[in-house]
Amino acid sequence: MVIVLSHTIKKNEKENLRAFLEEKGFKLREIVGEEETILGAVGIRPIDIREVQMMPGVDRVIPISKPYKLASRELKKEDTIVPVGPAKIGGLRISVIAGPCAVESREQILESARLVRESGGVMLRGGAYKPRTSPYSFQGLGEEGLTYLKMAGEATGLPVASEIVATEHIDPMKECVDVFQIGARNMQNFELLKRVGALEKPVILKRGMSATIEEWLMAAEYLLSSGTEYVILCERGIRTFEPYTRNTLDLSAIPIVKKLSHLPVIVDPSHATGIREKVAPMALAAVAAGADGLLVEVHPDPGKALSDGPQSLFPSQFEKLMRDIEALAPVLGKEVARLPETPVPGKKEIRIRQGAEDLVAFQGEPGAFSEMALFRHFENAVVSSLPCSAFRDVFDTVLSGRARYGILPIENSLSGSIHENYDLLLQYPDVSLVGEHKIRIEHNLIGVPGARIEDVRQVYSHPQGLAQCSKFLDTFPDWQKVPFYDTAGSVAFIAREKQKAYAAIASAEAAKVYRMDILKEGIETNPRNYTRFVIIAREEYARVRTPNKASIVFSTPDKPGSLFRFLKVLADRELNMHKLESRPIPGKPWEYMFYADLQIKPDRKRFDSALDAMKQAADDFRILGVYQA
Ligand code: PEP
Ligand code: MN
Repeated sequence: MVIVLSHTIKKNEKENLRAFLEEKGFKLREIVGEEETILGAVGIRPIDIREVQMMPGVDRVIPISKPYKLASRELKKEDTIVPVGPAKIGGLRISVIAGPCAVESREQILESARLVRESGGVMLRGGAYKPRTSPYSFQGLGEEGLTYLKMAGEATGLPVASEIVATEHIDPMKECVDVFQIGARNMQNFELLKRVGALEKPVILKRGMSATIEEWLMAAEYLLSSGTEYVILCERGIRTFEPYTRNTLDLSAIPIVKKLSHLPVIVDPSHATGIREKVAPMALAAVAAGADGLLVEVHPDPGKALSDGPQSLFPSQFEKLMRDIEALAPVLGKEVARLPETPVPGKKEIRIRQGAEDLVAFQGEPGAFSEMALFRHFENAVVSSLPCSAFRDVFDTVLSGRARYGILPIENSLSGSIHENYDLLLQYPDVSLVGEHKIRIEHNLIGVPGARIEDVRQVYSHPQGLAQCSKFLDTFPDWQKVPFYDTAGSVAFIAREKQKAYAAIASAEAAKVYRMDILKEGIETNPRNYTRFVIIAREEYARVRTPNKASIVFSTPDKPGSLFRFLKVLADRELNMHKLESRPIPGKPWEYMFYADLQIKPDRKRFDSALDAMKQAADDFRILGVYQA
């Protein structure tokens, strides 16, 4: 059952409640959610829930109807995010775990780790104990393989996952792996599940070859009820009558399991298809279907692989797949998870230096796209958002120290740069860019609860919101379109007015904040609508240890070839430029300055060594920020 605790529960009330339930043989798990704190209680003996309902500090008790309890969405509404060293699986990210089927030699796993890391994988996989169909096939290097795997993980900073096939391997594996994988063949090896769950480490649980979704979730329940909180479910194809592929990838299991369970779901397209050519299309399909990540077999030289060569990707194919996933992710409102360049990431560094009480200022009302971007960037609970009415207020709030960070939209993929913010960056030289975050802008028609599209007569939104939904709005020529100062503000307005004839155009978050109904989702004309936000901070908080991007602004002398000379400095030092934009200089008609974004990977030395030459080639030169994008 789920016991929702009252907001005012006292410490001793909670202790009494726990003692009462434990006495009755219940295992308890406390989950602190965004809106409420709950106790998940799982027991063997039946209990009359009214007994619990009556206890002081209990708000309400909800029985869990499913046979799996700890794995179920009924217990926990929010997605579970599984932390594995610097990697995270779940939430709004797509995490790719990759590596060879088996560890074959020190060199082979080291090279695999390097290529996985370079292409953007967040974890290395590799079997040391291989459950092979034939006893005459390569069985894995065992303990020797584990030490190589550990070495490869340490050399590249990748956490490692490996399959456990027998309980006697727990001890050697414990020292070497970050994530235990339970293979398809062992999904219902309950003694193994209990022992591995008790290690309290993250576990990848493959779906059994002929397991139903419920059996799979029951296997996860074994792990969770034995101790671990972190199970990553992995769909790897089930056995059907179709012999063309090794298994049949059950893509529909992904949205189903995501609905039934809070656990992240990843997909293994390699064992699902068994055919190299089919791996990339099924990987993309899995991501499109909502998978939180992939488990992919890749080998430095698949022709020489000792197991599963025909389904292992060539390094170049894996790299291409990573690029394709990168392109697909924003469509789904997700980001491809990346490990930091070094073990200390820019983003995390920002988060470590601040307490939970730190404020991030944004322009707009609660539910604004800026607020959405800031929560995604700082990952919800770590910071609080501070609404400001104008962009300038965001700068003032940061400069005065009231908020440690600010977030500002800087560029939209359809309408271009937000020049007001570029101009403000120039006016506030003590404020620097410290990070960036891109989100997809999805608009919704939002009405008061109970309203239908037929009731609508007037639509309120920011002029950009109205313009970006023109095709949809054109189908309702009778509606009055009313420009408003802010998209989320327009939702706040209709919430106050409570008129069924009023609708607003804004994000789904804004509808949630003001408890309004979405009458139609995804009404933007062009679905490829992205906004890039920048994070700003005062100079003293602006040191990011592992930057990969620099934003600069400069003007050049009014002489032939002066811009060319500036750009030549970049070309000579092989500094890659992502963006170059010219802007009139305020107060100097027909004179222009240039905004440029430079890639400064793998380290900023090249950028630093070019600084003097850039300054010489420019009239004015300023660094807006050196940060991690
Ligand atoms: C593996 O991942 O190497 C493996 C053996 O997979 P499965 O258990 O899905 O067959
Ligand atoms: Mn394999």
